[in-house]
Amino acid sequence: MAKEKENVCCGGMNTLVLACSGASNVGQVSNSVMVELDKKGIGSGYCLAGLGADLSGFIESTKAARTLLIDGCPIGCGKKIFEKNGLEPTKYFVITEFDIEKKHAFDKLVEETNQAMDCIVASL
Ligand code: SF4
Repeated sequence: MAKEKENVCCGGMNTLVLACSGASNVGQVSNSVMVELDKKGIGSGYCLAGLGADLSGFIESTKAARTLLIDGCPIGCGKKIFEKNGLEPTKYFVITEFDIEKKHAFDKLVEETNQAMDCIVASL
């Protein structure tokens, strides 16, 4: 792969959607919401891990875009990654604020994603 392409993902869409994608129901709901927002054309899913890895292409692309950041819980890993890079999301969401309890269980992801999507889409 060409050097300049190594840390760039997904091109330069105007709105980027980033999710913590954590290993809990709410982390996975954040990821599913990112996918659904992308499928609806509301924004382009983007790799939060690229920012966490301090890759300059991801940081510059994120700085240049409108951003929707979705964390699963109040620990706020995504928000901390943004702050570490001097970034402020345009809109910030925490899945547990939508009356979804954090669990290490993945049996209700479809229902929980629909519940979170309703709240997020209504606030855009
Ligand atoms: S914000 Fe919460 S759910 Fe997301 S990665 Fe961090 S601890 Fe996990």
